[in-house]
Amino acid sequence: MTKLQIEQILVLRDNYIYLLHEPDSGATAVVDPSVAEPVEERLAALGWKLTHILNTHHHDDHVGGNLALKGSSGARVIGARRDAQRIPGIDQLVGDGESFLVGKAAAMVMEVPGHTSGHIAYWFPESRALFCGDTLFAMGCGRLFEGSAEQMWHSLLKLRGLPDDTQVYCAHEYTQSNARFARTVERDNPELAARLAEIDARRGRKQPTVPASLATERATNPFLRADVDSVKRGVGLPGAEPAQVFAELRRRKDVF
Ligand code: ZN
Ligand code: FE
Repeated sequence: MTKLQIEQILVLRDNYIYLLHEPDSGATAVVDPSVAEPVEERLAALGWKLTHILNTHHHDDHVGGNLALKGSSGARVIGARRDAQRIPGIDQLVGDGESFLVGKAAAMVMEVPGHTSGHIAYWFPESRALFCGDTLFAMGCGRLFEGSAEQMWHSLLKLRGLPDDTQVYCAHEYTQSNARFARTVERDNPELAARLAEIDARRGRKQPTVPASLATERATNPFLRADVDSVKRGVGLPGAEPAQVFAELRRRKDVF
């Protein structure tokens, strides 16, 4: 049983970079380093040596620090096989259902296309930690830049199937705006109202709202609830197929 120590670094405006430290071996991974310097600083402060760079997708605010970090540490860059041409410095190509080790901690790869065609998520079962990039956000989901609504809905269903106590480490602090949108969809969801109040309080204290538990997401994130009646009604599509409801949710959020 190898539990990771996880550090969260807020960079740019609202990007989260994560450091994962496996204490037995000393292995340390970074997830989606948009920039290198804040990562180097935190590593130095903690006395950790970078061994792995994990990317969820090719966007610059997720891979921008790859080459500098690889250059300074010699860390191994891991990314999607489907995105091999677009991940700077990639060394190890991974795909759906494959696993690899960060020290003694096992990581499982899940392909979750929609935001981009090659988007993947990393699931660390022993730590109950999910690094899902821009696929699933706390109370929201990523925009559809390279995929269809149908595809994204199926990606989100895959993530929704993970255990209740999974902690969702997404790549952006978008929760407050997501929560306000969620309220326009489900006005009578008491858990949603309570969560919105808690998020406002946290943001008022400039605290992160990430990670969030998957159980909470399932209860309050409309994008994980496109097959729930109250959400279908909330977007005026009672009886519609979930993928169609999801498409309508995404369309509305794009202009919210
Ligand atoms: Zn992105
Ligand atoms: Fe992003």
